[in-house]
Amino acid sequence: MPVTVKTFASAGEAASALSVDRAARYFGGGTLVMRALNEGDISISTIVRANDSALRRIDAAGPRVTIGAGVTFARILMERELAFLHAPARSIGGPALRNMGTVGGNLFAPNPYGDFTVALLALDATVALQGGFGARDVPIEEFLQSRERQSGTLVLSVSCQKPAGLDTFRYRKITRVRPNGGSVITLAAHLPVSSGRVLGARLALGSMAPMPIRARAAERAIEGRPLDVSTITVAASAITEGTSPTDDALGSAWYRREIIGVHLRRLLSGQE
Ligand SMILES: Cc1cc2nc3c(=O)[nH]c(=O)nc-3n(C[C@H](O)[C@H](O)[C@H](O)COP(=O)(O)OP(=O)(O)OC[C@H]3O[C@@H](n4cnc5c(N)ncnc54)[C@H](O)[C@@H]3O)c2cc1C
Repeated sequence: MPVTVKTFASAGEAASALSVDRAARYFGGGTLVMRALNEGDISISTIVRANDSALRRIDAAGPRVTIGAGVTFARILMERELAFLHAPARSIGGPALRNMGTVGGNLFAPNPYGDFTVALLALDATVALQGGFGARDVPIEEFLQSRERQSGTLVLSVSCQKPAGLDTFRYRKITRVRPNGGSVITLAAHLPVSSGRVLGARLALGSMAPMPIRARAAERAIEGRPLDVSTITVAASAITEGTSPTDDALGSAWYRREIIGVHLRRLLSGQE
């Protein structure tokens, strides 16, 4: 089936084109879109691209960082101000993939992918969208819950507060093929500490549900407490609550449930 490629100068024009054509897909780095086309996905008849430099902009000077949807993981790794995001960016694919894959595309990546999105979920990121309705900002959790209905919407950027210190934000990805295979499980934690207690804990999990999710029961176990052995033990015993992992070639649902507590313990106790 022929595919039409439409390239626009501005993000606004690209968003308009997406909003009127259900068979149109935005092309970020193309690492997933091209695979779908090569595999004969006939639901895509139009590819929409935008040459808008705003989509590739990074604003990391202040306490809040904004990253254009078209920023690649290789770019993230070059930014010292984004050091807290280097571990998730480095965990994605190989060098070629990090040169092409974008932050915006990662928001739509199905399991066992979406590692960067797990990090953004733990960081309580906001997603800036442009659609037929105009522009709006939505919390990442809300965005993920309606992700399947977002095909006519353009993601412009994501933004989040910088963590107070490098140890405040932690990330861990478990793979079978090291260092950069698909995720068996992915964990990210934002653990701001005030007077020795965690205040505002956010834990996010990848490959433990159809999309990245928060581990709310484990968050409750941590909130307001010192991050000591007893807190970590209670959090680890609560970590599978609300999860719904599935079997795939990388691991069974049973295996994922068995190992997630172990890796949460390691993440929370600061082990490598
Ligand atoms: C071999 C291989 C290994 C991989 N390894 C990993 C990995 O380790 N971890 C991981 O997380 N991912 C991995 N991926 C998946 C993928 O490469 C990444 O998730 C990447 O971030 C996707 O970004 P992209 O720009 O290439 O997306 P694209 O292929 O361009 O797009 C993917 C989807 O997102 C939509 N989209 C893209 N940008 C926007 C936007 N701005 N607004 C609206 N919709 C948009 C597209 O329309 C499409 O539906 C891998 C993929 C391959 C092929």
